[in-house]
Amino acid sequence: MKARKPVLHCDALVVHCMDYRLQKFLHPWIMSRFGADNFDIISLAGGVHDYEMVLKYVQLAEQIHSIRVVTLVNHEDCRAYGREGTYARHRHDLLDARQKINALFPALAVESFYLHLDGRFEAMVG
Ligand SMILES: [Zn+2]
Repeated sequence: MKARKPVLHCDALVVHCMDYRLQKFLHPWIMSRFGADNFDIISLAGGVHDYEMVLKYVQLAEQIHSIRVVTLVNHEDCRAYGREGTYARHRHDLLDARQKINALFPALAVESFYLHLDGRFEAMVG
């Protein structure tokens, strides 16, 4: 008899920047938020800066892991944004990405955060 592959599931997809300065804040925060073995992580330069790339992974995570939550994290002093990386720009991009993902995947909860370099996660509420 051929065994069927078990259905794989985790609750969340977390998207954050590759920046090494953030990792010590991100990992404990994500672990306490979702628990071990319960999240996919995408590390992209600029976080949601490349929206099309983010979208690709949201589609994939939804398809293969039936995620329920997408957590988007941009951060202070992001060098991938360069001079354009103002607080207002990050806020705009985070809320914009959230809105677009919400429109495409109404069943998913999408949350946006701005991570300050002191480790503070600020929820971006539109
Ligand atoms: Zn960055």
